[in-house]
Amino acid sequence: MWSQRSVVDYGLARRATLASLWSGSLEVTDACDAHPYLLRAAKYHGEPTDKRCPVCRRERLTHVAYVFGDELGRSAGRAAVTDELMTMAREYGEFRVYVVEVCQGCSWNHLTVSYVLGHGQSRSQRS
Ligand SMILES: [Zn+2]
Repeated sequence: MWSQRSVVDYGLARRATLASLWSGSLEVTDACDAHPYLLRAAKYHGEPTDKRCPVCRRERLTHVAYVFGDELGRSAGRAAVTDELMTMAREYGEFRVYVVEVCQGCSWNHLTVSYVLGHGQSRSQRS
């Protein structure tokens, strides 16, 4: 089951961040502040995209998906690749995926979209 529910698009916030960057009210060092863990996740769990980084315009962006949800237990908050997300969507009732775009060149990072995955039934309903 691969249906994204309750999709939240952060495009507006992203454009606002970039606009403040271009206008000079936001420092590049404040926008391009990817945490070492995020850069590591991008390197090992990230999915390459065709989109070029809006800041340095050299590197292509990588998407990193983080999963959150009460059912996930210890897996909550970790990065997951698409294959894992598909497996988890069959396994769990509901969890939210946050997709962050990361530039491994200049460390630009921003939340792009979040959505809910899962088969929609809680554990108690299934037993
Ligand atoms: Zn960049």
